[in-house]
Amino acid sequence: MNVSETIISLAESLESELIAQRRDFHKFAESGWFEMRTSSIIARKLTDLGYEVLVGEQVCKKDARMGVASEEVLEKQYQRAVAQGADPEFVPFTRGGMTGVIGILRCGEGPTVALRFDIDALGVFESNEEDHLPAAEGFRSVNEGFMHACGHDGHATVGLGVAKVLMSIKDQLHGTVKLIFQPSEEGVRGAKSIVANGHLDGVNYFLGSHVTPLFNGPHYDIHPGAYGSLATCKYDVVYRGRAAHAGGSPHLGKNAMLAAATAVLNLNAIPRHGAGSTRINVGTLVAGSGRNVIADEAKMEIEVRGGTTELNNYMCEYAKRILESAAVMHDCTCEIRLMGAADSLTSDLELCRIVADVCRDQLGMSVPEELTIRSGGSEDVSYMMNRVQEQGGLATFMRIRTKEVGGAHNRKFDFSEDFLVRGVKIFCASVAHLMQEK
Ligand SMILES: [Zn+2]
Repeated sequence: MNVSETIISLAESLESELIAQRRDFHKFAESGWFEMRTSSIIARKLTDLGYEVLVGEQVCKKDARMGVASEEVLEKQYQRAVAQGADPEFVPFTRGGMTGVIGILRCGEGPTVALRFDIDALGVFESNEEDHLPAAEGFRSVNEGFMHACGHDGHATVGLGVAKVLMSIKDQLHGTVKLIFQPSEEGVRGAKSIVANGHLDGVNYFLGSHVTPLFNGPHYDIHPGAYGSLATCKYDVVYRGRAAHAGGSPHLGKNAMLAAATAVLNLNAIPRHGAGSTRINVGTLVAGSGRNVIADEAKMEIEVRGGTTELNNYMCEYAKRILESAAVMHDCTCEIRLMGAADSLTSDLELCRIVADVCRDQLGMSVPEELTIRSGGSEDVSYMMNRVQEQGGLATFMRIRTKEVGGAHNRKFDFSEDFLVRGVKIFCASVAHLMQEK
């Protein structure tokens, strides 16, 4: 058997194990910085396979994490993870939201290849209706208000399958493999802190992926690359003023609600940029405490996006100027906290071509002529890709097609589990090709 035949047969032999693992991750869904049980299980499995394993503060740089919950909330999640069967040896490293795992396999001289698998769930209440397969089959999330509604349970599972197969064929690999299990992709909060710890330095090839629904029209197994995902910044904004009697002494108050309202209207009036697409959204505004009280506090959750990192920077700077000026108008203070961010991303065609050839010629998969596909939304894998690319390495963000129902981030989201074996094959065959003896 040549190496790709070995990979195909190993991946296929893992099918039932992968499905069981995916259902376990799905059932115990944990959202960003709460992936404590999930991380502990990944660390256990990688260790048992023989990987060099990084956990806790070795993975994400503590102060570079964005959008982290309070210590109190994190501790509650930690206790839950422990109660739900987290691995006792590894779960202590995740306390305080230090989630994520990196597994390293060193196979002598050769390139360094990094693979990224995101592992977090979303703040979504999962459907318990019978036509929702996880409910019907008994692996609906037991953590109410948390749900794997974007397929990251599948991504994490593929990562573990890849770990197992690559270990089995390590004698045929030349170089170093890094498996990065990234926390907190939702809200684009996690990747930057992994880059900040230097884990993408010296990486020659980088592969990330996401499940993608089948469209009407020609069916393809994989798009080897993606482009066009939007750069973004997410902010929490708090205006603080002074409460006062609205009838007796309104002049003594400082109206935080007025400052926020001024900001909302002007944020939406930021001039569009001539060089490309931009977005702004004020998603929430909560202000005031009573009918006859001048509001002393107003909180907003906002986000901006841009077709490129430069366009996003234009939006960020304009938005900050408005937010601060609105505070000055009404003599309030304004606190702006960055809760998440991503750059735009581009896949390297040279690496897309390699992945396409491997998938078509060795795995018998269907690949479109057009190797890259436009990616909507935002993805913080961009930080990892950009770090690799700025050092002369090649990076791609693959879109692996699978039958999906419900739509991403929906309470009835689900994907066809045949994705799992296919994902393992794609990653392993690509890695084996990149790490073959030259
Ligand atoms: Zn996702």
